[in-house]
Amino acid sequence: MQETRKRKPTQLRRPPKSPKVTTDDPYPAHQRPTADECRAIRDELLAFHGFPQEFVKYRNQRLSNREQGNVQSEPPVVEEEEEEESVLDGLIKTVLSQNTTEVNSQRAFASLKSAFPTWEDVVAAESKSLQNAIRCGGLAPTKASCIKNVLGCLLERKGKLCLEYLRDLSIDEIKAELSHFKGIGPKTVACVLMFHLQQDDFPVDTHVFEIAKAMGWIPAVADRNKSYLHLNKRIPDELKFDLNCLLYTHGKLCRKCTKKGGTQRRIESIDDDNSCPLLNYCENSIMNGTNKAI
Ligand SMILES: [Zn+2]
Repeated sequence: MQETRKRKPTQLRRPPKSPKVTTDDPYPAHQRPTADECRAIRDELLAFHGFPQEFVKYRNQRLSNREQGNVQSEPPVVEEEEEEESVLDGLIKTVLSQNTTEVNSQRAFASLKSAFPTWEDVVAAESKSLQNAIRCGGLAPTKASCIKNVLGCLLERKGKLCLEYLRDLSIDEIKAELSHFKGIGPKTVACVLMFHLQQDDFPVDTHVFEIAKAMGWIPAVADRNKSYLHLNKRIPDELKFDLNCLLYTHGKLCRKCTKKGGTQRRIESIDDDNSCPLLNYCENSIMNGTNKAI
């Protein structure tokens, strides 16, 4: 005799208009990093590298925004060396920065602006001309199609090519808005949040991911998206920006903290060289000694 188990009448069907944005921690039982660890690593890396030059502009914008928020009677004192980027410029810059160097992505953006001074010009442009304009940043067909999609979708949804309205939204609302754009993934969204909207968010790129794993901040099985959700829950908001810029920079500069040479060689090089300030933290981590863990 067989029990017939009733099926649930229908699975929940979400309306297609609003893609789901998950923010739950996929590893609530993984109690690392602690706030103290985050602070200690921030201090170690700051002492080791200083604050990375390429992010100083964004750090100043954050500080200036916060001061304006706190002291309302004072007129904003902005050192106008460079005019503040629009959010849309920031998003497109982030798209162009995928899988290439900082220099090449800046070059691609400059070339794009020189060929098509306004975003309306980009909408009107032939795909091929757009690809040619950004070719020096690599992945031109993919990036061109992504840019076209973003602009087309924005125009359709809002009637104009402007993302400044995002400045007034919460992090979750911004994520929901940007998730409408085809080709814009969670890492791009996180970078726009952190750099261009001065929000406390913690993008997880390859460097941050590798180091977080080596230090045992995320479970060995974690992928990048789950690591992003976990680390954003664990890392105190006020440390996110500095810690992210520092981990990214360290990952780029430190051979021991990159994939180069693979896991085995990396453990050896950490053991026989004292120059990486994260050495003690990797050694003490719950991951230490288990090759599969990194
Ligand atoms: Zn290192």
